[in-house]
Amino acid sequence: MQFAIPQPSIPTVPVAGSESVFPVHRIYCVGRNYVEHAKEMGGTGREAPFFFMKPADAVLPVPAGTIGEMPYPGMTNDLHHEIELVVAIGKGGSNIAAADAMQYVWGYAVGLDMTRRDLQGEAKKQGRPWSTGKGFDKSAPIGPIYPAAQAGNIAHASIRLQVNGAARQQSSIEKLIWNISETIEHLSKYFALQPGDLIFTGTPEGVAAVKQGDVLEGAIDGLGELKVKIV
Ligand code: MN
Repeated sequence: MQFAIPQPSIPTVPVAGSESVFPVHRIYCVGRNYVEHAKEMGGTGREAPFFFMKPADAVLPVPAGTIGEMPYPGMTNDLHHEIELVVAIGKGGSNIAAADAMQYVWGYAVGLDMTRRDLQGEAKKQGRPWSTGKGFDKSAPIGPIYPAAQAGNIAHASIRLQVNGAARQQSSIEKLIWNISETIEHLSKYFALQPGDLIFTGTPEGVAAVKQGDVLEGAIDGLGELKVKIV
């Protein structure tokens, strides 16, 4: 088979402690998966999980020990950070029961669901899609993926984000409304999960704006750090 135009490259994310890279198939994101963040976004904190997507090539992979550079995107005056646990799927499946879900998890990473909050807010008001607010280029900075066996038990890990050295977001993975297994159970009812899928599992409270020159430092216990400069 011959491609009519040059074949686009497959987006990849580094694997911690390895020369291998993880190929990205799709990026799913969970909305409002921590009670206090759901409240700050105007919800009750108790709704069923809902999902949106970013294109696979929205990843901005940041290798260990480096600082990623994210250009301040156009068409916004309100770029927000959302620090999140990312689950990397290694095996495909549909209608996966929560009890079996961990077999589908290949690894974990620290990610940022960067958001043009003004565009997302306008889309909500108008009943329009969130794509321009959520799915723009380089909107998904991500650190190295740690294979699940290396990461250990992250169910109670601390998740935090500093901007220019000051604390902005601080919580624990145990505060997820829908834990990793339950999230996979729900998501796999809507979509056939494939190897290479990434799931951004939602952000805790404390989302706020960043500006050019800001340095974001995110971390989750067991999964290292993710440093990004807005340029
Ligand atoms: Mn998010």
